Amino acid sequence: MNNQGRVTRIAGTGAAAETYTGNRALMLEEPLLFERGAVDRSGVDLEPVPVVQDRLGGLARTAPIDLPGLSEPETVRHYTRLSRQNYAIDLGIFPLGSCTMKHNPRLNEKMARLPGFADIHPLQPQQTVQGALELIDTLAHWLKTLTGMPEVSMSPKAGAHGELCGMLAIRAALEARGDARKVVLVPESAHGTNPATAAFCGYAVENIPANARGRVDVDALLARLGPDVAAVMITNPNTCGLFEPDMIRICAAVHAAGGFVYCDGANFNAIVGRVRPGDLGIDAMHINLHKTFSTPHGGGGPGSGPVVFSAALAPFAPLPFVQKTKNGLQLVEEAEAHESKAHDHSFGRMVAFHGQMGMFVRALSYMMSHGADGLRQVAEDAVLNANYILASLKDIYTAPFAATGPCMHEALFSDDFLDGTGLTTLDLAKALIDEGFHPMTMYFPLVVHGAMLVEPTETESKASLDQLIGAMRSVAERMLADPDAWHSSPHLAPRRRLDETAAARKPVLSYKVPAAA
Ligand SMILES: *Cc1c(COP(=O)(O)O)cnc(C)c1O
Repeated sequence: MNNQGRVTRIAGTGAAAETYTGNRALMLEEPLLFERGAVDRSGVDLEPVPVVQDRLGGLARTAPIDLPGLSEPETVRHYTRLSRQNYAIDLGIFPLGSCTMKHNPRLNEKMARLPGFADIHPLQPQQTVQGALELIDTLAHWLKTLTGMPEVSMSPKAGAHGELCGMLAIRAALEARGDARKVVLVPESAHGTNPATAAFCGYAVENIPANARGRVDVDALLARLGPDVAAVMITNPNTCGLFEPDMIRICAAVHAAGGFVYCDGANFNAIVGRVRPGDLGIDAMHINLHKTFSTPHGGGGPGSGPVVFSAALAPFAPLPFVQKTKNGLQLVEEAEAHESKAHDHSFGRMVAFHGQMGMFVRALSYMMSHGADGLRQVAEDAVLNANYILASLKDIYTAPFAATGPCMHEALFSDDFLDGTGLTTLDLAKALIDEGFHPMTMYFPLVVHGAMLVEPTETESKASLDQLIGAMRSVAERMLADPDAWHSSPHLAPRRRLDETAAARKPVLSYKVPAAA
């Protein structure tokens, strides 16, 4: 907490501000592997290749492969240096709203590495993996209990995959009753994956506006219901970090109009132990195990998005599922092969095997180490931490919905307070990098201008929140006092401002040896 409360000059002056190596103190600059190595070099001594008869039928490569050769220590250093330039939840607070970057307990990792879970194969005979099946079944039991829903499908491998699963079940249920509804309603405050999922399933997507309080405009939604509406997809808590309070009314109206309600429950972490979505009337909801039950989400690491179903949708849920029989647990992989009537109209499979085993183990470890009271406290502390940030910054940052009451697990700000300075959310986020913080989620949700979505999660202490708040205040104050100084941050990071649009639109995915000068 060294710099708290004062601004410290870090960079040197004049010639001393530069280095011969390009390194910054012990943070080392690192070129590409191709620039460091050389194609005519090798890290190992290979025997000369014996002359053998070529059986490649003329398909042998004739041009050099152009892979760089490096010694083992050079290779190890390359990747270690790169890894040090990577920001991680194990280094500091990661306030990415909507991503729930909470600490991942080491106990989870230890459990996930137990050979009985980590070293098994999905094609092993089922009698030899009864423990793993029992773990899946136990986790399924707790997911049903926590959500108050009668059925769950464990196999979807991420939140968006879970949405697809839920919407395919809704489509199957409508098809089964010969109902050709073609429209899915998606509020503006929904996560971007929701309209994408509905469109992927062949539905026409219609937007429902948000009201001035950042919630779905219920009157507009109810007015749009009718015989062409297949489903409504609602994110709750929504992407403004706000609870949708009218779910019971919405669900009743959608059901009365013959549609289904899909709830995006990726952010179940904000309400777990406090609200059971089944009590609200929801038909299908995915739970991001990787947000609610630990395992930070960034960087595309492993995810898992089980989907809970209402009784109306349960018969349409996908295969496989775990079933208790007199001979132990059985994984039902074909619709005809099971005794029960569960999933008897299954729409098929989502994945080749059973789901994301490592994530199941981590999630169950997290649940069991917290217990029911601990899980409820997870939600309470996540909400408390977000409100602490909102309350501590709303006098300087524009907080569009703060007047409507407390937020849930994330605090939403906009850059309206920078109006007239020529500075935006982007400049602020870049300045936070110099302060040693991974920026918050920017420009999402779209419903507010220059959005900054800060999600502290429950695993941050008051001291770490105070340091983030101090940095966010200080940067904002200094920006307002001297706007011109902030157009080129970050100054201390290994890379400055990159052309992110070009990187996304025209990615350079293969290395070309520069022509000899
Ligand atoms: C994270 C998130 C998703 C998508 O989850 P993935 O695991 O990234 O596919 C969907 N909806 C909401 C509200 C989310 O926060």
